[in-house]
Amino acid sequence: MNVGAPFDDFWLGRENVKRDTKIILIGAGIGGLTAAIALQSRGFKVEIYEQAPQLAEVGAGLTLSPNATHGLESIGLGPRLAQLATRPERQAVLHYRTGEVLVDLPRGDLPKKQYGADYYQIHRADLHTLLADAVRSHDPNAIKLSHTFAGLTQNNNAVDVTFTNGVAVSADVVIGCDGIKSAVREVLWGKAAPRFTGNIAWRGLVPIERLPKGFKLDPPSAAAVGVKHSMARYLIRDGTVLNYVAFAEKAGWEVESWAVRSEVSELLSEFHDWHESFQTFLAATPPELCFKWAIHDRDPLPQWTKNRVTLLGDAAHPMLPFLGMGAASGIEDSVVLARAFEAAGSIEEGLKRYEGARRERATFIQLASREAQSRLQGGKVDNYTKNEHKNEEFLGLFNYNPATVAV
Ligand SMILES: Cc1cc2nc3c(=O)[nH]c(=O)nc-3n(C[C@H](O)[C@H](O)[C@H](O)COP(=O)(O)OP(=O)(O)OC[C@H]3O[C@@H](n4cnc5c(N)ncnc54)[C@H](O)[C@@H]3O)c2cc1C
Repeated sequence: MNVGAPFDDFWLGRENVKRDTKIILIGAGIGGLTAAIALQSRGFKVEIYEQAPQLAEVGAGLTLSPNATHGLESIGLGPRLAQLATRPERQAVLHYRTGEVLVDLPRGDLPKKQYGADYYQIHRADLHTLLADAVRSHDPNAIKLSHTFAGLTQNNNAVDVTFTNGVAVSADVVIGCDGIKSAVREVLWGKAAPRFTGNIAWRGLVPIERLPKGFKLDPPSAAAVGVKHSMARYLIRDGTVLNYVAFAEKAGWEVESWAVRSEVSELLSEFHDWHESFQTFLAATPPELCFKWAIHDRDPLPQWTKNRVTLLGDAAHPMLPFLGMGAASGIEDSVVLARAFEAAGSIEEGLKRYEGARRERATFIQLASREAQSRLQGGKVDNYTKNEHKNEEFLGLFNYNPATVAV
């Protein structure tokens, strides 16, 4: 797979994009905030417009594979990330009914030796706070809350953006980082609702003291394969909280939101034939920390950029969560975008370099994330070996550094 664009000599020796270019980002999720820091740390001035009245991320864990860690380290967040995140020593793939280890994957210092950066697991809120603090340390006024994007018009010189609160702003460039339901994407490429995939994800956080005495998570970081069901679970926050996400193929409920509570009893009945090593921690979920989400998807876009407006993160390429690469891909986009602007002689060139370097890889991961569903939930559990486990590392996705890839 070609993971980056070849360097194009045509652009060499041209004047750079001016640092006073006004860049507006719509959406302060992991993608928008990372892009802001990457641009700020190269001297660009950015404004981020976020619909929420307060910055917050949901209570859940997030895997940061070496390709994402490279991106965060390149914008100066490495030391703080190492303090906040957990680095698993090993990972396993488990059999859903017997709980036995089917595949063992060494981690620890191996990813760093092999790919140049660590493999981490972190609470999403901790990463989000780290990013927001970094944006504000560059510019305390960069994040504008309570601004819901309403629309934009553009010509060859500027983009005019309006918000539902009546505010109107003008910019040289606009980046839509507004997630899977992106309104910016809709303005550029037309209305098309995300499609329900037939999967529901339950996510929960279990304080470790709620687990029965003597209960062991062996190893602490694992995925489990099943029949129309799968699961991932790992410890975060210095081993004090167990994070899990449990997937089931299930029709009839399609609400796409991280904020919908689920009864723990519903979750237990869905996973009733799973080994007790899973049932035990599911049952220990505090009722207020059990949520469900209907997983939606979109087809890859043939183009992200229109004139002076482009897309980033889930707005550009929402991915099913079966490879755990959605946020990682948004982080990759962000670093590449900033490098593309730094290298370019014009806004048009910067956006062209960005999309040229990113779209092929992002599309590949989008499609591979779909295929991963049948591997994990297809029911071929009894013969599941390392050969079957064609995961994100096997696909070569760890072997990518957004801070050095050709732009
Ligand atoms: C169950 C599950 C588990 C996952 N696990 C992983 C994992 O382990 N590793 C990984 O890399 N990825 C994972 N992902 C994917 C990851 O969560 C997403 O890819 C990532 O959060 C997307 O970030 P984003 O910034 O592009 O979008 P979002 O996080 O959706 O942020 C969009 C932001 O835009 C704002 N916004 C929306 N509309 C507007 C508007 N009109 N005006 C202004 N602001 C607006 C929103 O309020 C929000 O703040 C998982 C996803 C799921 C569903």
